[in-house]
Amino acid sequence: MKKPFLTLEQLKEIVKKYPTPFHIYDEKGIRENARKLKEAFAWNKGYKEYFAVKATPNPFIINILKEEGCGVDCSSYTELMLAKALGYRGDDIMFSSNVTPAEEFVKARELDAIINLDDITHIEFLEKTAGIPKVICCRYNPGGVFITTNGIMDNPGNAKYGFTKEQIIEGFRILKEKGAEQFGIHAFLASNTLSNDYYPALARILFELAVELRSKTGVDIRFINLSGGIGIPYRPEDKPNDIMVIGEGVRKAYEEILVPEGMGDIALYSELGRYMLAPYGHLVATAIHEKNIYKHYIGLDACAVNLMRPAMYGAYHHITVMGKEDAPCDHMYDVTGSLCENNDKFAVDRMLPKVDIGDLIVIHDTGAHGYSMGYNYNGKLRSAELLLKEDGSVQLIRRAETPMDYFATFDFCDYYKSLAEDMNPGKQ
Ligand SMILES: *Cc1c(COP(=O)(O)O)cnc(C)c1O
Repeated sequence: MKKPFLTLEQLKEIVKKYPTPFHIYDEKGIRENARKLKEAFAWNKGYKEYFAVKATPNPFIINILKEEGCGVDCSSYTELMLAKALGYRGDDIMFSSNVTPAEEFVKARELDAIINLDDITHIEFLEKTAGIPKVICCRYNPGGVFITTNGIMDNPGNAKYGFTKEQIIEGFRILKEKGAEQFGIHAFLASNTLSNDYYPALARILFELAVELRSKTGVDIRFINLSGGIGIPYRPEDKPNDIMVIGEGVRKAYEEILVPEGMGDIALYSELGRYMLAPYGHLVATAIHEKNIYKHYIGLDACAVNLMRPAMYGAYHHITVMGKEDAPCDHMYDVTGSLCENNDKFAVDRMLPKVDIGDLIVIHDTGAHGYSMGYNYNGKLRSAELLLKEDGSVQLIRRAETPMDYFATFDFCDYYKSLAEDMNPGKQ
């Protein structure tokens, strides 16, 4: 059973002030989870989580993680701006980008962020545009197929990211020659893994690489970044990861591979996004239409612009019809949004209790890669984001877009005046 982190009574109060749709986040859940992650890696002295900003780029949320000791992982200019505004500097910022524009490297250097290079040609590009820093990281791609004892996890050989083995050896030599002094390695080989084996298997690959890189290039390896990829149970029948087991599995690999080589002082980093936040966000919507043709449809006031994953990947998101948690799921529906796109469906052939117009609908696990993947197709506007605080109160942490946000990029021309007049009659 997947249960919402708020009750129907709480939601009824909230929608009096903040109309649906909105995303709401659970501060208590976020903090408890972040503390548990820290505990799982407490055996490693330098361990640090750099929250992947792209998952949930909201300063109020990131600030909670900051209070829990997390840094940030950025991959664009605006994410670096957000990091700066939140008071992050230096080695509290990881800059893990790819196909990076020059001005982003300049910005990252300005903030003294740790730069994680995605390609061997970026060494020269970085040197020309922003200079080679003392601390540098390179992203590794082992190629081929990534297999653990659980079977095939993903296909790095098809991924655009990272250096090959030969390139990272060569790259470290060049970087050392150009003045880099402290090195890190990074890899991201599989996404949303529901297995306690992913991090330990990845760690083994990177630890062995670290030993090889040190012996072949003589560089000083200071940290290994295991990046993101730990998944969450989107489906009620999914078995959740056990972060303590994951931390222990990584420790075992560390003691087997790094410690005997005298490399037992290497810090471990992570760049988790989904694992940090996905379960602690709900998209809350209202059922506004019911339609019965060849199938039965429930239409919501939210649509794929509020949560793109089902439309984009066919991703499963659990749905709770609030107040009907214990009612039998004896109706089969497609739960849809209003886009003129037939893939705008939050669920297809989903068994739910009978839904009535006006029912409040909770779509689960939208705390990461939810709001942030939003877009404006069909002129739809992005929703508000709310925070359910530990004391039970609710705070607006991002207002909903208005039509003026949608039209703001016309503010250089005359049409804008007419658009603004419609929005604010008499004010222009
Ligand atoms: C997206 C991303 C992450 C976070 O991934 P999750 O699947 O949310 O854990 C971490 N690092 C990099 C470089 C990424 O692109």
